[in-house]
Amino acid sequence: MSNEYDDIVVICEEGINVIDRFCDVCDLMITTSDDVEYVKKYSCCESCGMKWAESRAKEWLAGWRPGRESILEHKERSRIIRII
Ligand SMILES: [Zn+2]
Repeated sequence: MSNEYDDIVVICEEGINVIDRFCDVCDLMITTSDDVEYVKKYSCCESCGMKWAESRAKEWLAGWRPGRESILEHKERSRIIRII
């Protein structure tokens, strides 16, 4: 597979799973191996997975996601925790 972005060409070997660098829910960066495992299982970071996906696994896998306000509040708390 090959994509061209202006002067940059990105080539990925087939069979390699590429994950997003940012959480689909909170948009924070995927930074740890635990985050990667949660992305593979729930398409979100560890923090969102622990907060929402695991407790509502059935609904989560069916497409349920938290509301915008809950996500914003979670992002603020996650940033504070990551800074400390
Ligand atoms: Zn997240």
